[in-house]
Amino acid sequence: MKVSNIPNTNIIYLIENYEALLFDAYGVLLNEFGVLPGAINLIDKLNNTNKPYFILTNDASRSVPTSSNFYKSFGLEIPEEKIITAGSLIYPYFQENNLKGSKCRVIGTDDCFLYVADAGGIVSDDDFDVLIIGASPDNYNFSSIEDLVNNLFSMLDVKEKVSVVLLNPDLLYPKSTDYYGIGAGSILLWLESFVEVRYPGQSKLQITRLGKPFKEIYQEAFRRTKTMNMVMVGDQLQTDIIGANNFGIDSVLVHSGLTKNDTLTGQDIYPSYTLSSIND
Ligand SMILES: [Mg+2]
Repeated sequence: MKVSNIPNTNIIYLIENYEALLFDAYGVLLNEFGVLPGAINLIDKLNNTNKPYFILTNDASRSVPTSSNFYKSFGLEIPEEKIITAGSLIYPYFQENNLKGSKCRVIGTDDCFLYVADAGGIVSDDDFDVLIIGASPDNYNFSSIEDLVNNLFSMLDVKEKVSVVLLNPDLLYPKSTDYYGIGAGSILLWLESFVEVRYPGQSKLQITRLGKPFKEIYQEAFRRTKTMNMVMVGDQLQTDIIGANNFGIDSVLVHSGLTKNDTLTGQDIYPSYTLSSIND
């Protein structure tokens, strides 16, 4: 398919034709410079008309209440019940897999620890059965990674397997203009490689990835909206768009964030529509 064959859309069309709208946050509603044009009006309009919408974000470094306050600090009046973070998926995951009460080592911010405690995990650095990689902490460095790797090895020496739950699968995230931070997904890439070197061919990590593009975050949206007639608006092909496509809902690539129109060419991932910005 040619990029030029993908129809453009606008927000009014989406509101009129879908029962629920799903928005990525970063690159769609706000970026490193602040709130994007049209975002405050859009959220106010959706709130005032009771149009069902949810924010689907891979950010696991902030709890849902922290996220709501963060958005409000930009003038985006998004209530907690409209926010589905990758971090909040740990709760249903622990319920479904009977992990309540399990010993967890947690890599992440203070809010990542809150997510795990809320899900019923017991934080235990020295002896754990579940490793939860929530977010790459700002103060992480090589010796922190070394400590983590050696801690994990000492578990794997005595246990057949350790479960790893990756909350935010992003490898990179935009930290400021043209400067990227190393995301939580990168930490897991390292660990997988190190474990393969130390225990070749033994598959000792049982890995679950939550967040976009994996299905759990879309399933949670479906659980809340009770309709598949929803559309995902996001700025990244590899997360927002492929995740929506795989889940079987329509997708809109917005050009206000990471993926520009020209980068569409040559990829096998296509959105249902493109949108220049939510201000349209
Ligand atoms: Mg984004």
